[in-house]
Amino acid sequence: MSVFFKNSALAKVFESGIAALSSEENLLPEAIRAGIEAGTMVLLGNPAHKNLKPVLIGSPSRVKINANIGTSPLLNCAQTEMEKLSVALQAGADTVMDLSIAGDLDAIRDGMLNLCPSPLGTVPIYATAQTYLDAERDPCDIDPEELFAEVEKQAAQGVDFMTLHCGLTRRGAEWAVSGERAMGIVSRGGSILARWMLKNGRENPLLTDFDRLVDIAVRHNVTLSLGDGLRPGAGADAGDAAQFEEVITLGRLARHAHARGAQCMIEGPGHVPLNDVEAQIRIIKRLTDNAPLYVLGPLTTDVAPGYDHIAGAIGGALGVRAGVDFLCYLTPAEHLTLPDAADVAAGVMASRVAAQVGEVSLGRPQALKREAVMATGRSALDWDLMRQACLDPKTLEERRRPHREEEVCAMCGKFCAVKMLRD
Ligand code: SF4
Repeated sequence: MSVFFKNSALAKVFESGIAALSSEENLLPEAIRAGIEAGTMVLLGNPAHKNLKPVLIGSPSRVKINANIGTSPLLNCAQTEMEKLSVALQAGADTVMDLSIAGDLDAIRDGMLNLCPSPLGTVPIYATAQTYLDAERDPCDIDPEELFAEVEKQAAQGVDFMTLHCGLTRRGAEWAVSGERAMGIVSRGGSILARWMLKNGRENPLLTDFDRLVDIAVRHNVTLSLGDGLRPGAGADAGDAAQFEEVITLGRLARHAHARGAQCMIEGPGHVPLNDVEAQIRIIKRLTDNAPLYVLGPLTTDVAPGYDHIAGAIGGALGVRAGVDFLCYLTPAEHLTLPDAADVAAGVMASRVAAQVGEVSLGRPQALKREAVMATGRSALDWDLMRQACLDPKTLEERRRPHREEEVCAMCGKFCAVKMLRD
């Protein structure tokens, strides 16, 4: 039976947005419908999110970029996060995730939903854990009912996709903390759940009661972003048993959820050396029936704090070539501090470069067209054409401004090879 029949909220978003989506993605409506039916593509869009422009994730749609924003206990200013949201969208982010862990989380989320015409994602366990930490209680004592209630509340509020670490098993958590890993567990949500399971001697409630999440996802067309709580946090941990035990579980859950009408994405690594990126991506896609793959980076070195957006873009480009559908940005602030607005813009641009590099290598028509327009513009010294083709027209204009009256640029001046050859 069709996924659209089982998920009437999805059908509603699809019907209202398909004309625009088809034109933007340069895909026939039938191709988009087939991708969603097969589970290789998801349509992010919760009908409760007002003024939303739905977004497609997954092949054969264009690779998308997510920007993470949100408060932290050490830098807690809701207004700044709203400004960062605008900066992320202006820089070209397709979606935004609110990872706030300080302040009035309901109000911040509400503010972002009102401000953001693009899909908004969250990690609901943060809000549940925050109520415990604020009351100086241990999140190991979280009542799973509170977590399910939080998911339901955020779905009703209009959140479009949610990271839920459903594939993290007690066995996987034990493996990850057995001492064999260089970095143990580095996912915030993953570490909260792992501690909960290990302390209480119980299995992950998001796994044992997965069907409750599926019900909520179908009711609100919230896309389940099945989180990688055991993703490697150091290159040395990439590809170990704990990571892949979780991936196998995520694939099984995605299959089950899709059969019941829920849309799913799979979250992926993490820190992965360059030589392992392609193999990792292909195996994850294989184990998850080519569900849309959403990766953080991958970060190809651990020793570049301050430049992690570059280390991540290198992995991201190769990842896209191997099948990644959705890149979560890294910023120059990664591993150091909360990103500021400039970090957000730099992170989005780094990911957009990675996506373009990867899509060119795949021969995707839109990416190749952009390259061709730029080549034409450069060979004609046509700066308008170059501005149209480039990923960041604002920066092109700013850097060229001191010499904008010149036909050539300040790199070579009178020695401009293009002009000499033409003249
Ligand atoms: S001046 Fe040099 S860098 Fe600039 S357009 Fe001419 S050849 Fe290219």
